[in-house]
Amino acid sequence: MNNKKERKGLVIVNTGNGKGKTTAAVGTLFRSYGHGFRICVIQFIKAEEVKTGEFLAAQSLGIEWHYCGDGFVFESETAQNSAEIAREGWRLAKEKISDQKYDLVILDEFTYPLKFGWLDISEVIDWLKDNKPSTMHLVITGRNALPELIDYADLVTEMKEIKHPYREQKIPAQIGTDF
Ligand code: ATP
Ligand code: MG
Repeated sequence: MNNKKERKGLVIVNTGNGKGKTTAAVGTLFRSYGHGFRICVIQFIKAEEVKTGEFLAAQSLGIEWHYCGDGFVFESETAQNSAEIAREGWRLAKEKISDQKYDLVILDEFTYPLKFGWLDISEVIDWLKDNKPSTMHLVITGRNALPELIDYADLVTEMKEIKHPYREQKIPAQIGTDF
């Protein structure tokens, strides 16, 4: 549509307590894939054993996908292991972002290592300001996006829970819609 000169790489943040943050990121991935974009996904927090539908689809399409998490639960905020894995994930993200090779990079659940202080928010944002290619879109998902991240982003959407089947009816996560 617009040529590379007119393109502006957006920083997109999907946050809030409602469902749809990762789903929306995957929607952007699908859209980008259709335009032949080179894509890289890095999933923080989640463990590799969880083969989600989006991962399986990406795999069959040959989309690059990395896991940088041990599937920790929210109570273990101080878990050293999770923190170290997340820092490793950020090193990988920096490598991919500065590579100049990608049109879209998705850092799924990246708000958590920032929120828990495993990574320094100012350092992360300063690094992105200096190194993110100007035409590359960057999508970051997760609850509790820090004010500094919101300030830096071009597009921020807050998913707001109105009704959720788990909350209302204790219906567990469903294949195809939740994973
Ligand atoms: P999704 O991956 O479905 O777009 P999300 O990225 O917005 O969800 P996460 O916090 O990453 O939200 O949630 C991961 C899992 O938790 C998914 O199975 C999702 O359906 C479920 N979930 C999301 N929001 C809620 C909620 N408000 N109440 C209960 N479960 C939720
Ligand atoms: Mg998510």
